[in-house]
Amino acid sequence: GSGLMAGKRGVIMGVANNRSIAWGIAKACRDAGADIALTWQGDALRKRVEPLAQELDAFMAGDCDVTDLESIDAVFNNLEEKWGKIDFVVHAIAFSDKDELTGRYIETTRDNFTRTMDISVYSFTAVAARAERIMNDGGSLLTLTYYGAEKVMPHYNVMGVAKAALEASVRYLAVDMGGRGIRVNAISAGPIKTLAASGIGDFRYILKWNEYNSPLKRNVSTDEVGKSGMYLLSDLSTGVTGEVHHVDCGYHTVGMKAVDAPDI
Ligand code: NAD
Repeated sequence: GSGLMAGKRGVIMGVANNRSIAWGIAKACRDAGADIALTWQGDALRKRVEPLAQELDAFMAGDCDVTDLESIDAVFNNLEEKWGKIDFVVHAIAFSDKDELTGRYIETTRDNFTRTMDISVYSFTAVAARAERIMNDGGSLLTLTYYGAEKVMPHYNVMGVAKAALEASVRYLAVDMGGRGIRVNAISAGPIKTLAASGIGDFRYILKWNEYNSPLKRNVSTDEVGKSGMYLLSDLSTGVTGEVHHVDCGYHTVGMKAVDAPDI
């Protein structure tokens, strides 16, 4: 490892399995020398997360469902007890009803709109507020977003609206926390086949489209998002805050289908 994260401690929220983007970030941070804590959502995922935590010698910081604010409090209390202070937080959490990640956005229900915003947007602010109390000056927070925040992507629907709000909250939080040198950024990741992504309609088509039309002519890996995440959490990026950094093989830069792109 590079040692770039040596002496840093942080919590990574959103590991569901070894395909999770959060797992890619956890591995990259550990490889660079960080001490890691993980949270999990419910007993079913605990069984998956526990062996992964062992692999990284990570602290199991608590069962956390972000709709239950007391479970977020408990995680940060556990971290304070274990380490006193922390240096970084990763928020890789989103949810929307699968039935509304297909078809027309206009049909979004109020219940699912509210739930999607609560889990996918408000939770980052709720986590930031609790992290601030035990975070060292110069700390770093990171969340995960997608291009569907900026442009209409098929089936992304209410999640696109939520990611737009999440990206705006990155900027507001960056100002709120900047006085102590704490930085707040997002990675806008290209499509990756994870548990959460399997809920999105025609996801295989989206993967193929990105592969054929991104400048690098392929999709990103969780390891690549992990490395870029490590950069934003490390002191390599001390001058970067309020930023949405695309890790998408350059897809967001292209204006139309590549002339040589095969049919899907
Ligand atoms: P994933 O399914 O591995 O991770 C999603 C995580 O969210 C899970 O660990 C799940 O437990 C957690 N979660 C959902 N509801 C929760 C709740 N109420 N409380 C606590 N945790 C909850 O999928 P992923 O693709 O790694 O997703 C991580 C992040 O990356 C999400 O914000 C997602 O929108 C974002 N993202 C994913 C892609 C992609 O193509 N996979 C692209 C861009 C951004």
